[in-house]
Amino acid sequence: MTTATTVDEPMALAAAQLRTARMRVTAPRMAVLVAVSDSSGHLDADTLRERAQRVTGHLSLQATYNVLHALTDAGLVRCTQIPGHPARYETERHDNHHHFVCRGCGAIRDVECTVGTAPCMEPQLPEEYDTQEAVVTFWGLCPDCRAATSES
Ligand SMILES: [Zn+2]
Ligand SMILES: [Zn+2]
Repeated sequence: MTTATTVDEPMALAAAQLRTARMRVTAPRMAVLVAVSDSSGHLDADTLRERAQRVTGHLSLQATYNVLHALTDAGLVRCTQIPGHPARYETERHDNHHHFVCRGCGAIRDVECTVGTAPCMEPQLPEEYDTQEAVVTFWGLCPDCRAATSES
């Protein structure tokens, strides 16, 4: 069975990641983790479920969400909530990157962490507040949608 080796390697890697995160290794967790790692990022739960099912067989959407929540809690997966879109999942790289969302087609791309003088990153809050995260979403049009707009 030479065809199996291509599948086995990412699954073994996923199993190792789960063990490192002190999580129980289960087939759905491995399959969902592989689906997230294999993508270039920002897939919703339904798309990840479809991909994971190729390995595990039937996986309910609720089970997929449960796995994604567990993986997010464990710091293996990053969940991004964008208003008007289903939650998106990608590999957690702890790089604190931001997102650009196209208003035209809904495409999402990563934006490097904003550095330099960005006053909005320093929240104007009393010191009693413990700010833990700043989420920046840039909205606009991607090159394809800009081109389509100017053509019409
Ligand atoms: Zn677009
Ligand atoms: Zn991202």
